Parts: sequence; C-alpha cells; structure tokens
Amino acid sequence: MDLHFGSLCVRNPNTKFDFARPHMEPIVASTTFSYDDPEALMEIFLGEKKGFIYSRWSNPTIELAENKVAALEGCGLGNTENLKLKARLFSSGMGAIQTLFMSTLKPGDKVIVQGTLYGGTNELLTKILSQFGITPLITELKNLNEIERISSSDKNVKMIYIETPSNPTIDCYDIESLCQIAKKNNQLVAVDNTFASPYLQQPFAYGVDFVVHSSTKYLNGHGNSISGVMVGKNIDFMEKDVFQYLKLLGTNSSAFDSWLLLQGMKTLEVRMQRHCSNALQVAEFLGANTKISRVNYCGLPSHPDHLLAKKQMRDFGGMLSFDLKGGLEAGKKLLRHIKLCSLAVSLGTVDTIIQHPASMSHVGVAKEICQQYGITDGLIRLSVGIEDVKDIMNDLGNALDAI
Ligand code: PLP
Repeated sequence: MDLHFGSLCVRNPNTKFDFARPHMEPIVASTTFSYDDPEALMEIFLGEKKGFIYSRWSNPTIELAENKVAALEGCGLGNTENLKLKARLFSSGMGAIQTLFMSTLKPGDKVIVQGTLYGGTNELLTKILSQFGITPLITELKNLNEIERISSSDKNVKMIYIETPSNPTIDCYDIESLCQIAKKNNQLVAVDNTFASPYLQQPFAYGVDFVVHSSTKYLNGHGNSISGVMVGKNIDFMEKDVFQYLKLLGTNSSAFDSWLLLQGMKTLEVRMQRHCSNALQVAEFLGANTKISRVNYCGLPSHPDHLLAKKQMRDFGGMLSFDLKGGLEAGKKLLRHIKLCSLAVSLGTVDTIIQHPASMSHVGVAKEICQQYGITDGLIRLSVGIEDVKDIMNDLGNALDAI
C-alpha cells in the first residue's frame, strides 16, 4: 500500500518487529499488542490461549521479571510438594502487599501480624484495610504459645503475616513454626522477604503460601526503580484471582521498571555476599563503640535471634540498626556528620543508606507500638552497601567521634 507522509510518520510499513533476537531482554514499551487474526485475540480474551493484550494486564518484559523472581524463590525446592510458583509484579511493594491482603481476605477476616512491621504495612492495615472490615491483630510473633492460642481460638483469623528479618529492629521470626500453627488451623501464611531476598531465605521451603517483596530493594539493588512482587504456589489463584485484582486495581508495574529489576537481579548473588560480609564487619565495629548501647544484627552471636536466623537463612543480610546512648539529639548529630553514607529512606542498594526510623520510616506508626517493639528515638538504621567496608567504618567512626 502506498502511504502518504502523515501515515509514514506513524507506521512502519516494511518492518516487522521480530527482525532480530536481542541478546539482552528488550524493554517492550507498548501499551497494547496487535494481532492479524481477530479469532486469536478473542481466544486470548476468553482465557483459552496465552498472549499479551494490554500492558496493564501483562507485558513481555514484566513477565520476564516475574518468571525470574518465581525461579529464584523456588530455586532448589522442586521436590518440596512438587512446588511450582507464579509471581506477579506490581508498581511497588505496597501494591503487592495491598493486593495480597485484598485478594485473600474479606470483611470480617483477621490477620496476625508482628509489631516490628514495615511502617507502610502497619499503616495499610490499621488505617486503610481496617475500613474494609479487615482487622490486624498486632502481637508478638515470637510468643508461639500465644500465637497458637489466638490462631486456634478465633475462627476469623485467616492469615499469619510475617516480615523476617524485620524493620527496623532486625528481629527474626520462626517461619517453620508459625507455618505449622497456621496449617493446623487452616490459615494462610505470607512472608515479606524483602530484607533477606531469595538468596538468603526461601520461605516456600517451610510451607508458606505467599511471599511478597519490595523489589525496589535488594532484588533491584541499584535504587533506580520502584516495584513489588507477590509470589504464590496456588497457580490457579495467582493466574485468575490475583490477576483480576492487579488488572482492576491498576497496580501493575511498567516495562521500564521491570527491565531495571531484571538487570539488577543478575548480580543478586554477588551483591548479597558482599552486603553480608560488610554488614558483619560494620556490626562488630559498632558493637565496640562506647556511645552505642545496642547493635541489632542477626549475624552477631549476641543477637537474640541469631540461632533462628542461622537456621532459616543462608547468611545474615545487609541490614542492621543501633541504639545511641544519647537518644534523639545524638542521632541528629550523627546524621549531620555522616559524609559517605546516604541519609535517605529505602534500603538494599549498592550504596550504604542511613536513616532514623522514629522521624522517617516509622513516623506514622503509633508511639506505643514503637515503644513496645524497641523502635526508640535513638535508633539508627543502616543498610550496609557494597562499598569498601573500610570507608563505611571510617565514615561511621568519624561521625560517632563528633557526637
Ligand atoms: N516491605 C518492606 C520490608 C519495606 O521495607 C518496604 C519499603 O521500605 C515495603 C515493604 C514497601 O515497598 P515499596 O516502597 O516498594 O512500596
């Protein structure tokens, strides 16, 4: 067909896109997908055939990232109840967590959660989902007898939600025991695996139903894209129910963010190894400083959850926090003297990030919850990066000298 100028600007009449096989994953930045045959499109619409229709629903780059996360969470677990996993990618970790709760719980249902929860998850449950009749039971997940009591006596409990290691006190919770309690009572278990990443911890090995991530963090690793992921072993539920929530809530990721995530995941193993070895050295260094009253790092034998972390994790991760004897004022002073570490929220990036939970990530969390779970005014959280560890320790040492 001979086209006029205006049409040639818009169209590519002599070019098909399947002209080459890219070595790296392509960013498929297309809103919609076209077909030659209306029957083929109908079959996909009716769910009789797989295919891409519209990028809010699914997209080739997004699917590549989803498949990689599912493969990593299930790596080596093939023999665990013939485990098969399906992941769905979202616009953020909160998008994934919201979709997890919305797709599995209904008005009247209750979910058991810990007090040391990511601030956003706490607020989502207490401020938003509570308006839809979903009740969070915020309790001490380490007290297994109490969890057993609540779980078996309250028929409205539908889920135990675990974040381990947790934010910002690096407490660890026993995934296997909590799973056993939940399964006895026909309840679901979901784990926020953001701090550990699938390299360090694979909750499906213990029988959990879902894993969620803020893939903004270690999975991406470079601090350049926001995304979240929900992984499940009930493939039908992930393909139909979760898909329905994702496409109707519009909590989808984008091709570009998915691509950045895909690039980041290529170095997950080597990054995590360096994060772990740097964090242990920094924790030991901080532990020897007289201005610090407590270092929370689950890799230290003195940490109350060290043995549990050793059991359910391959290594101890890059996250730690510490309490300054001088409280809030000392914390502010320390942050003013930091030169290398970035003062910012977020975590899991190649560079070291430092923050003050009481005035930053946990500012929206009720004071009594913060007090009860050790989120003190003098607590500083560190996401130890992969820089040369001597430079990280120098920076922290100089700032501590200055307070
Ligand atoms: N879960 C944890 C443990 C987090 O630390 C965060 C964010 O910091 C989230 C979930 C939420 O993730 P996002 O910021 O990608 O929405």
